[in-house]
Amino acid sequence: MAESKLTGGCQCGAIRYEVVGTPKRQVACHCTACQRQSGSAFGMTLVVNEEDFRLTKGELKTYASKSHAGRAKLGAFCPECGTRIYHKSEWRKGTVSVKPGTLDDTRWLKPEMHLWTSSKQPWVVIPAMSRRMLKREGRRCPP
Ligand SMILES: [Zn+2]
Ligand SMILES: [Zn+2]
Repeated sequence: MAESKLTGGCQCGAIRYEVVGTPKRQVACHCTACQRQSGSAFGMTLVVNEEDFRLTKGELKTYASKSHAGRAKLGAFCPECGTRIYHKSEWRKGTVSVKPGTLDDTRWLKPEMHLWTSSKQPWVVIPAMSRRMLKREGRRCPP
């Protein structure tokens, strides 16, 4: 499991951050919005308390959008290299959804929950013990 302090940053090094305390949960989202945002097969999220996240270097740019249900989402990224650092959303108040691939040490990551698996890539095999939500398909993110 995670140490009490995690550090990470963007691809070019302009952004650095740290997370203290214990992350609340790890999620892999297979919705097509996360596929597009990440440019990959799924998006990963490490949900941490807002007060546990600290930017230690640089300034982030943000991109505001809405979920399919009209709720506000915010994506924060490095203005130099474009690496997405975190998301914030109306339905996860008080938390920051860190993109955990930006952590310095990613070896301990293992999502316990897989969302929107109905739109997952067919070659992605979900581990048997993890929780899943199959509900929605399409270019949308929960809820
Ligand atoms: Zn950067
Ligand atoms: Zn998603």
